[in-house]
Amino acid sequence: MDFDFSEDDIRRYSRHILLPEVGGIGQAKLRAARVLVVGAGGLGSPLLLYLAAAGVGTIGVIDHDTVELSNLQRQIAHTTGRIGVGKAESAAEAARAINPGVIVIPIAARLDASNALALIADYDIVCDGTDNFATRFLLADACVLGRRTLISAAVLRSEGQLSTFKPHTGGPCYRCLYPGPPPPGLVPSCGEAGVLGAVTGVMGTLQATEVLKEILGIGEGLSGRLLIWDALAASFRTIRLRRDPACPSCGEAPTITDLSAHAG
Ligand SMILES: [Zn+2]
Repeated sequence: MDFDFSEDDIRRYSRHILLPEVGGIGQAKLRAARVLVVGAGGLGSPLLLYLAAAGVGTIGVIDHDTVELSNLQRQIAHTTGRIGVGKAESAAEAARAINPGVIVIPIAARLDASNALALIADYDIVCDGTDNFATRFLLADACVLGRRTLISAAVLRSEGQLSTFKPHTGGPCYRCLYPGPPPPGLVPSCGEAGVLGAVTGVMGTLQATEVLKEILGIGEGLSGRLLIWDALAASFRTIRLRRDPACPSCGEAPTITDLSAHAG
């Protein structure tokens, strides 16, 4: 690993370097890490900004949308002046403005069955900040097949959920928790049901914290646990998740062996 930090780097990351859990070695681990952020929206905005600020060396951000006025209530990587600009590029610009010392790669594309495996292969950790079940299941299956750690956050109205899935080290996968997408129309999207903007900010920030913990190898990760936050009740709880031996993705006889079910 490269431990050669400039004086500016040492000043920039001094509050990390002071922490016994991080130090110079941890900061070098962060610089060597490669993280993919899927979705530059309400979750992806704070997530990307904190990862860049923390000095995560290479960050990919994929989003096919453009910035709209209705995004700005919560998607804090974007600005009024960037309405109409691609979200991946807009978010990358915000991240680079905080920390020009990290590489931010905007990917203006929709994650699909044809590109998912090749994309995640370039990264160590993948973050789900998407807003629809089709992409969530596609990404979850791709991460099992590609043996990538998936840190997944979700929000609806005033509630958030967060977990880390790494079945390649023995933990459950997303499909152990949710075997398949809910029937269309059962669970509304944020666009249909609304969401309290700050809730996405907290969940994206918690997600960023879990990414840093995974890179640094510190603390108790969320593999095998689901964190649930009820913002109106101001209460957090954590429930145990078990690996399902009959899971179609990570079980003993998996039926999902490629992404063909997600094509078309
Ligand atoms: Zn599973």
